[in-house]
Amino acid sequence: MNWSFTLFRAKGITVKIHLTFVLILIWGAYIWSDRADTAMTGALFGVVAMLLLFGAVTLHEFAHSFQALRFGVRVRDITLLPIGGVARMESIPEQPRQELQIAIVGPLTNLLVAALLVAFGGVLSLFGVIHMGDLINALGKTTWTGLLAYLTAANLLLAVFNLIPAFPMDGGRVLRALLAMRFPYPRATKIAVAVGQSLALLLGIGGITSGSYSLILIAVFVWFGAGQEGKLVEIKGTFGDATVAYAMTRHPQTLERDATLAQATDLLLSTSETAFPIVSADGSFVGLLTQNDLLKGLRAHQPAAPVHPVTRIDIPTTTPGESLIAAQQRMTAARTHALAVVDERGALVGLLTSEGINEAYRVLSANPALVIGANGQDVPQSHPQPAVAG
Ligand code: ZN
Repeated sequence: MNWSFTLFRAKGITVKIHLTFVLILIWGAYIWSDRADTAMTGALFGVVAMLLLFGAVTLHEFAHSFQALRFGVRVRDITLLPIGGVARMESIPEQPRQELQIAIVGPLTNLLVAALLVAFGGVLSLFGVIHMGDLINALGKTTWTGLLAYLTAANLLLAVFNLIPAFPMDGGRVLRALLAMRFPYPRATKIAVAVGQSLALLLGIGGITSGSYSLILIAVFVWFGAGQEGKLVEIKGTFGDATVAYAMTRHPQTLERDATLAQATDLLLSTSETAFPIVSADGSFVGLLTQNDLLKGLRAHQPAAPVHPVTRIDIPTTTPGESLIAAQQRMTAARTHALAVVDERGALVGLLTSEGINEAYRVLSANPALVIGANGQDVPQSHPQPAVAG
C-alpha cells in the first residue's frame, strides 16, 4: 500500500504528501496550544506555522528539482514527509559542477526566503501592522510578528542544517562535488563519507554530554546516511559498465498466455525460479507471474483457472543493453524481485532477478575484469543511476 497522495503537479513534477504528515500538524497544534490566550487559537497557529514551514520545504525541493531539470535530469516526484521533503531524481550527475549546483540551490532558496521575509516585515512595520524591533523577542509568540519570526528562523535553520557537510544533507553533496573537482569520484565520495561520519560522531558525543535526544537522533541519521552513500558509490564502482546481459538468465522458464495455475505450480516446484514471464504464441512478452501472485491466485481460484488474471502487466521491463545498476534501481522502485528482459521488438530474451544481480555483484567484487568477455561485445554507455536527493 502506498501511503502518499498527490497534492498537485508543476512542470511535470508530482508533489505528493505522505499520510504521516498529519502527525506533524498534530504536533504543531500540541506544541503551540498553550502559547496563546485559548488553546484553540494556539493550536490553529501551530497548524498554520507547520503548513508554512512545509511550504518552505517544498520550495527547497523545487529548487533542487528545477536545477536538475536544467541539466536534463528527470525528476520523478517530490514527497513531503514529517521529517522533510524528498525529491526523487532519476540520477545525480557525476559532473561535480552540476551536482554542486543542484545541491546548493536548496539551502540558498531558504536563505533567500528568509531575506525576503525580513524585507516583507520591514514594509509591514512601516504601516504599523507588525513591529520589526520585536522580531527576535516575538519568536514563540502567537502574533503576526511571531509568525514572521518563526518562518524566518525556520528558513534560516533549514539552510544551516542542510549545509552540514555530511551525506545525506545537501552540504555532503556540495563537499563531495568540491572534492571531485580535485580527486576521482570514488575517492571524493570516500573522503566526504569520512568527514560526514566524523561529524556524526562529534554530534553524537555532543548530544550525549548535553543530554539532547534530538542531537543524538540527527547524529545517527547522518552516520547511516553517509554510510549508505558510500555503499551506493561502491556498488556503482563494482558494477561499472556491466549491463543487464551480464547478469540475466538467458533461457528463462516461461508460461504461455493460456497456461493454468496448475501448470504454473508445476513449474514453480520443479525449478529454482520464483518468477515466470508469460509469453504469447509469437514469443512476445505479456507479463510476469511472481511466486507471491501465483500463491494468491491459488487461494482465490481453482487450479484449472488461467494464469493471466494474476499476471502482473505493470512491472517495467529492461533491455540487455541497459546498465545493471539502472535496472537494479528500477527493480527496487517497482518493488519486484524480477524484471523481464526484452529486445527492441518486445520479444522476451531473458529474466533479470535480484539473485542474479547479487551473484554478479559477488563475482565482480572478486574480480572486476570479469565483466569484459561476458558480453562478448562493446560495453554500452552506462545509464545514470536513480538516487534520492534530500
Ligand atoms: Zn536539499
